[in-house]
Amino acid sequence: MTRFIRFATEPGVPSTAPDTHPSVRRGILQEDGLIRLPDGSTAALNRVKLLPCVYPSKIVCVGRNYADHAKELGNAVPAEPILFFKPPSSLLAHGGVIVYPALSELVSFEGEVGVVIGARCRRVKAADAGSVIAGYTIVNDVTARDIQKRDGQWTRGKGFDTFCPVGPWWTPKEELDFASFRVRTRVNGELKQDAPVTDMLFPVAAILEYVTACMTLEPGDLIATGTPPGVGPLKAGDTVSVEVAGLGTLENAVAAEI
Ligand code: MG
Repeated sequence: MTRFIRFATEPGVPSTAPDTHPSVRRGILQEDGLIRLPDGSTAALNRVKLLPCVYPSKIVCVGRNYADHAKELGNAVPAEPILFFKPPSSLLAHGGVIVYPALSELVSFEGEVGVVIGARCRRVKAADAGSVIAGYTIVNDVTARDIQKRDGQWTRGKGFDTFCPVGPWWTPKEELDFASFRVRTRVNGELKQDAPVTDMLFPVAAILEYVTACMTLEPGDLIATGTPPGVGPLKAGDTVSVEVAGLGTLENAVAAEI
């Protein structure tokens, strides 16, 4: 399985560093723990800082895309996809720390499958969606639920720095059996979410048609496909992991804002 990663060659580079940052590289993580770079050179994973595996111009998210999740929060099952953005400033690498904002008293995890866009596209028909999908990764759509509800719209509740862990890597769609994916989220090892992606109300192809009827997507853009039931609170000191068999495990600790 091909594991595409991004990393920095020196410590201290933030998760939000763009590809134009002089220390940022892309490569393929091999089974032996070495990263193979496009120029044929290698780097050791344990000597670099892992970054989010994509650097999206936008992160388009689908809300309430699993009926049982909509219901668990007392919401209606939507008749068409509910879209919102998370800002690129919310990106966080696998292993990075989710900062629990002082402004919130109810921060929740949302384990999700992420779609990595492979080509600039607009007005893609569902039947052609495969031609613009590069591959898949894992996203944790961390949410300040109290602020989301209070604001009415979701920009702040979904948009805090560190609220978009993604990775650890992405894998080309050709190497994956998407229909076999299950999203399993654990907090401190305890299973909280466990559902098949086949439970999605709007499948990925339909989401892509809906999104690109509105906006142009760019290579590297990320679509978070919604979370299954079982969402719940995080607290400082927790470790949250989202596992999708075939894609790996995205794990992050939670710490209070200081
Ligand atoms: Mg979500």
